[in-house]
Amino acid sequence: MIIAVDGPAASGKGTIARALAAHFGLPHMDTGLLYRAVALNLWRWGGDPASEFEALRACDNISLDPHDEELRSEPVSMIASSISAYPGVRSALLQRQREFAEQEGGAVLDGRDIGTVIAPEAEVKLFVTASPEVRAERRTKELAARGMTAHFEDVLADIRARDERDSGREAAPLRRAEDAMLLDTSAMDAEAATAAAILLAEERLRAG
Ligand code: C5P
Repeated sequence: MIIAVDGPAASGKGTIARALAAHFGLPHMDTGLLYRAVALNLWRWGGDPASEFEALRACDNISLDPHDEELRSEPVSMIASSISAYPGVRSALLQRQREFAEQEGGAVLDGRDIGTVIAPEAEVKLFVTASPEVRAERRTKELAARGMTAHFEDVLADIRARDERDSGREAAPLRRAEDAMLLDTSAMDAEAATAAAILLAEERLRAG
């Protein structure tokens, strides 16, 4: 069984995907980390995000340490968002995600194009969203908890810019798959959002 969880930044899709994985006993992949790993590679090496050629070079030998704090830093987030618009970068990361999705027993993947491009055959598809203000507030708190200084207005501007880039790009834009269930978490805390997601997934599975 494949569960696809898509949605914009700080919508709660990561928390939901991890909870679904734990609930159904499935492995989980945060596909945003792959784009972030490419971005971090490019940043460390001093490459230019405006160059597709250099971004493509940064896809070679990506080492992914999910605990590396820099993966979630703001500069890396911005670079990840811009390099993810390059079709070459997307195809360099495609195989890894497809293999993970198609592994025996199933998997949960979260990202922007899981239900539309990576695993259109997924049995359960969720599109998780929340208002930009709520997402900016969550991200600001998250960054502060990690000891990083962040101002709400800057984070909100960044979230809007990323939304626009993710939804406006030609290659695999962020959009809800026709058969994805919509979950708006604006008025929910993490606990309520995960409970709602589990309920939706179970209903979908029962409906076959
Ligand atoms: O989800 P996260 O914010 O970690 O993703 C980082 C960036 O990677 C996003 O801004 C988005 O542009 C890109 N991304 C993508 N497709 C995915 C996952 C992430 O384009 N499946």
